[in-house]
Amino acid sequence: MTLDITTLRVAFGAVAITLLVLFYTVAFRQTRSAYSAWWCAAILFFCIGSSIHLLDGSHHQVWAHPTAHTLSVMGTVSVWAGARTLRTGRPGWLQLAAAPLLTLLASVVDSPATNTWSGGAVFLGMMSLTIGLASWELWRLPSSYSRVQAPLAAASGAVAVLYLARGVAFVVGGPDGYVFTTFFDSSITALVTLVLLVIVSFSAAALSAEQIAADLRTRADRDALTGLLNRAGFLDLAHLHVDRLARTERPGALILADLDFFKAINDTHGHAAGDSVLKAFAQACSETVRATDLVGRYGGEEFIFLLPGASVSRTEDITRDVSLALRVQPTPGGFTMPTVSYGISSIEASGYDLDAAIAAADRALYTAKAGGRDKSVQAVGPADQRHGTSPGSPGDDVRV
Ligand code: GH3
Ligand code: MG
Ligand code: MG
Repeated sequence: MTLDITTLRVAFGAVAITLLVLFYTVAFRQTRSAYSAWWCAAILFFCIGSSIHLLDGSHHQVWAHPTAHTLSVMGTVSVWAGARTLRTGRPGWLQLAAAPLLTLLASVVDSPATNTWSGGAVFLGMMSLTIGLASWELWRLPSSYSRVQAPLAAASGAVAVLYLARGVAFVVGGPDGYVFTTFFDSSITALVTLVLLVIVSFSAAALSAEQIAADLRTRADRDALTGLLNRAGFLDLAHLHVDRLARTERPGALILADLDFFKAINDTHGHAAGDSVLKAFAQACSETVRATDLVGRYGGEEFIFLLPGASVSRTEDITRDVSLALRVQPTPGGFTMPTVSYGISSIEASGYDLDAAIAAADRALYTAKAGGRDKSVQAVGPADQRHGTSPGSPGDDVRV
């Protein structure tokens, strides 16, 4: 059986257009996710690239061949960019443009008018590289992200290997070599790519929905102004951490922080200045705590920390460092940053009960405020005997 490449390319174009229309209406219009937008772009590039290839052999080949190869690589670059948006953001414009430009250049300088495989090695290499990068991005997603990411990563990994093998066969034996023409010619690749395009489009629709769900989850858990966890997001995670501490009988600390005389900043310098102080405090917190610690905006100008495994001396370091980090943040109007009061409680002394730990820290915070502010107070027991140190002046013990 001989697979006629022209018929296959027409079939490929027809299936790609159908997929594009279906994917656009079902996945993109409903989710508007970045992933689905990139996947639409990829199908479009593949479709136009494949159609332009039909001009190979005609007098148009001189421009059609380099253009078709470049568009195909733009398609695989879009697949990579889409996969990348699931984890971080899309690659930079320079990274996006590099592979298509190299492919175009290699094809243009390699007699495209007469050579039906002009720039072939670079084209095959770039296809393999960019699909391989897409596969790599999908493997690196957390395993809980979606059920389809592993099959999708495997499918794109297989295509990357296919193009790599084609590239090796091309470089070793040339486009007329036995291995290349028997196992890796364009019609076999077109058939394999067609099947994979259909499979991947279905998985991609599921991933688009997952991306939107993940985005909504993040928005639901995060405070829009500071980017820290919001109260509900913090409490959800803190409960899990406290349960884990209880099981392993490890210590932990909880800190409630409240900016001192914050209302005066709003009243004197305006609400926007107040907002910038809240952001600066969030920045100071993020710079100071470890990746395993939790920080959230508990409400208004009150913040909450959970430090799993932390000792009392660690909490004193944290409160001192956060206050120092806040003090050196720039302010828009050049005014002085507010001081901060802290109430600290121990998770184990609260019987590994998060609500009890928060209540104890809240009482300690009240004592810090009543004792003159700009200090941290430890809730040392149920009777709430406390001692405090001024975070702004390390080592200066204050009993309250
Ligand atoms: P204290 O030292 O006793 O804590 O005094 P305070 O002024 O910090 O506390 P108070 O509870 O009197 O005022 C808190 C203020 O925080 C009142 C409220 O308008 C302001 N606030 C709450 N949320 C925001 C916000 O998102 N942005 C801004 N700019 N202000 C906020
Ligand atoms: Mg306050
Ligand atoms: Mg307050």
